Amino acid sequence: MNALARIPGRRRAGAGGDIKVSAPHMGNMHLLLEDLFGRLGCEYVKPPPSSIKTLQIGAKHSPEFACLPLKINIGNFIQALDRGANTLTMAGGHGPCRFGYYGIVEERILRDLGYQFDFLMLEPFSDGARAFYRTFAALSPGLSIRKLWKILKMSFSKGRSFDHLRKRALQVRAYEVNRGDTTKALKAAEELLAGAVSPEEIEAASAEAMGMLDGVRQDRERDVLKVGIVGEFYLLLEPFSNYDLEEILGHEGVYLERTVWVTDWIAPRRDNKIYGFPKKLIEEKAAPFLNHNVGGEGRETVGSTVLFAERGFDGVIQLLPFGCMPENIATSIIPRVQQQHDIPVLTLAFDEQTGRAGLVTRLEAFLDLLMARRGSRLVSATGSREKITQAVTPECAACAARGGCK
Ligand code: SF4
Repeated sequence: MNALARIPGRRRAGAGGDIKVSAPHMGNMHLLLEDLFGRLGCEYVKPPPSSIKTLQIGAKHSPEFACLPLKINIGNFIQALDRGANTLTMAGGHGPCRFGYYGIVEERILRDLGYQFDFLMLEPFSDGARAFYRTFAALSPGLSIRKLWKILKMSFSKGRSFDHLRKRALQVRAYEVNRGDTTKALKAAEELLAGAVSPEEIEAASAEAMGMLDGVRQDRERDVLKVGIVGEFYLLLEPFSNYDLEEILGHEGVYLERTVWVTDWIAPRRDNKIYGFPKKLIEEKAAPFLNHNVGGEGRETVGSTVLFAERGFDGVIQLLPFGCMPENIATSIIPRVQQQHDIPVLTLAFDEQTGRAGLVTRLEAFLDLLMARRGSRLVSATGSREKITQAVTPECAACAARGGCK
């Protein structure tokens, strides 16, 4: 029997469950949602994994100037509705960026297309516990606050474990001996953890799943580049939106740390348990350059870039949707951070026109720049790279081309 079918209150399709709920994809969030909706007793209609088709559907029905994440969300929702979902959920929020309007705009677009559904906007807990509770009660009639709290605690602890696994995979992949082993181990580890139900099972499965990743054959002597990934949360969390950039870099033997994780992002106080550095510290690091909230992760992008430089990382990659206001503010500040902290930063903006080949070319050029700075030979998973002898001056690091000229 599928272990998830054992989650208390879970109803299966066709077994009398009326609520068929869905939500857009965002990285590994579907694993957390599958657990949560199962415990709430409603059927989770998971949209198919985001794809070019998803984006085409979303772009066709979204305003052209909308952020890329909104377009992919619309595609996910339409694909879920076509699979039978009758209730859609979306995270709420408020300014200064456009994210707070996402749910409202998405609901309007879908209704204009003729779809019928219930729409539940999950506002942040800090906006009021009662409204927060009511959203879940709509999904699970008769749910008590006490039971909701217990369910959230269990699902969230499992969500954190999923995040820990992906974080470890980013690091193990840089040292893997056989290309692709980490990705295979991660998939098996996530499947194992997904089947855990009770707190004891979750704890045991988390440890076993982590062991599966650590068991990947690794060459720890390998000289790897260390790169930090910063930027807008959706671009960081959803691999489809960035052409699975982390896997591309991991296969080049690059050790990665990223600043945004699903459970860090949805945790009420955003204490960054997975990333490991509290939001307050990041804000302090950003303060000399940007000392107020500009929405999204704008301030965190600046602060985290400083932190990566101080921690000795070779470089930083900033990801943003084209037209993202908070990240564009950060982009305009980053050249000063680069100069003062002597760290190369590659800024990559994505929209529906972005192509994979161009992305790979820019990543390769950036890695060459980082290797040249180190002045050493990098042995990657695919073999050894040629030593780059071209001189890299401080002007190179500060230049708008950021090494892309090589
Ligand atoms: S952070 Fe940027 S991309 Fe995300 S919703 Fe706000 S403006 Fe759009």
